[in-house]
Amino acid sequence: MTEPNAYKRPTLGTPWAQSGRQPRIAIVGAGMSGIAAVVKLQKAGYTDVTVYEKTEKVGGTWRENTYPGLSCDVPSRWYSFYFALKADWAHRYSYGADIQAYLEQVATDFNVTEKVIFNTAVAELTYDAPCWHLVTSDGTQEIFDVVISATGILHQPNYPDINGLDRFRGACFHTARWDHSTKLKGQRVGIIGTGSTACQIVGAITDQVSEMHVFQRTPHWLSPLPQIAYSLGWNRLLSAFPFMQRLAYHYYCKLMVNTFSAATVGNKFMQRIINRTCVKNLKDNVPDPSLRARLTPTYDATCKRLIFCSDFYPAISRSNARLITDGIAQVEAEGIRTVDGKLHELDTLILATGFNAAAFILPARVTGEDGADLETQWDGAPRAHRAVALPGFPNFWMVEGPTGPVGNLSLIAISEHQMDYIVGMLDHMKTEGLAAIAAKQSAYDNYNAAMREAIKNTTWATGGCTSWYFDKSGVPNLYPWNPLQYLKSMHNPDYSEYHLVK
Ligand code: NAP
Repeated sequence: MTEPNAYKRPTLGTPWAQSGRQPRIAIVGAGMSGIAAVVKLQKAGYTDVTVYEKTEKVGGTWRENTYPGLSCDVPSRWYSFYFALKADWAHRYSYGADIQAYLEQVATDFNVTEKVIFNTAVAELTYDAPCWHLVTSDGTQEIFDVVISATGILHQPNYPDINGLDRFRGACFHTARWDHSTKLKGQRVGIIGTGSTACQIVGAITDQVSEMHVFQRTPHWLSPLPQIAYSLGWNRLLSAFPFMQRLAYHYYCKLMVNTFSAATVGNKFMQRIINRTCVKNLKDNVPDPSLRARLTPTYDATCKRLIFCSDFYPAISRSNARLITDGIAQVEAEGIRTVDGKLHELDTLILATGFNAAAFILPARVTGEDGADLETQWDGAPRAHRAVALPGFPNFWMVEGPTGPVGNLSLIAISEHQMDYIVGMLDHMKTEGLAAIAAKQSAYDNYNAAMREAIKNTTWATGGCTSWYFDKSGVPNLYPWNPLQYLKSMHNPDYSEYHLVK
């Protein structure tokens, strides 16, 4: 029962799907999934859209990461919006600046930029049926019918908990907060971590610095990156015949799904091929047997997120590079002291230590029905129904939410398919005159129980490694079946999995 003096939030009146008005839609984040969200909504006729972006530009991860060597190891022809294929990509694997320019261009061409409120983070979202109440970091309040979280997955830097990090007297920064004022040429540079990011950086800067110290906790497998620059003639051909762009898109999609994805979800033949490719890559590119031994992982090649990089092994084999595999005891003013007591003197320290992969829309405070708090509910192990919906959080959807198919796939493609699903939900609300739609607890439980069972058969769980794929519950937070099955499911919403509220 409502208390007589209880605060009653303002509403938007009759639910949008019953009044014939446009739904007011808030999107959190103007990265590639936020851009996809606006375009897909606009194409479907949903135009009352506001995007909240915490920084001054669109682009998300490609705006945020500006480190040397930044590139995408997913082929450009597939790492593109299907609604905005680009004939003139410069390379088979695009560099970060080219992707950022592309995202900005698409945002302009498709009238996304004008929908964005920049430099404004979303601090709170509260559901008071049938509306969402949004509070920004500057205290502005707004009401929406629908909220779409498009915050990305890896956006909160993981700062390592290493004793003395604050005592280092040189420049020290995370890879996603690159300090471009720091001179690297001729300096003694240390980097902690040997993931995808570190490999690209080491490959790009080792020939410029005087000493490159790479602190490796666990060796990673690397597959070569078959980079090529596209010729003008080839790109003109694709421009003249747009169907060839679509052909290339599908070709790379099939290639990645049938090889790398297949290997992760149980294809033993592909696993063997990838393992052999990685072993050969190491052997061919690291001539020193002792260095090679220290770079050799003990787990399956597809267990962690496979790194595609052709520059790291030649770089780490250079005479000015040192691979340090003794654990880090502490950071001191002059450098890093390892557990063997040795001090590695450094001028600059780079933290290539990854991201908090359990954040998603957090730290925004998201409160659903009956005061349900999202952070408490997830408790470090984020889950979702089909990676997009949550029980108890009506009219709230996530793009690139927990348990989506990530791995070595095009996240742009995944976002687009998820948006098709979300648009399908909105269309269903409209035709049925619904006030709210939310995943049923039973559907969410069944889906996640099936995932938990299936993940046991994937190389992420059986491959003998740990990685950012694992959440606090100790289970990899990924889609455990063939990703094409997931993409297909995004086009066939099963409404029996949802509470449909009139
Ligand atoms: P990451 O894969 O999580 O790697 C972090 C590295 O830091 C690992 O080597 C880890 O060691 C090490 N590390 C973390 N904490 C440490 C500590 N306290 N002490 C010592 N070492 C520590 O992070 P990332 O390289 O930034 O990549 C994150 C993800 O971004 C990738 O998996 C990929 O999905 C994406 N990415 C993609 C591309 C692309 O081309 N598409 C490029 C860059 C990044 P352990 O292995 O022992 O944990």
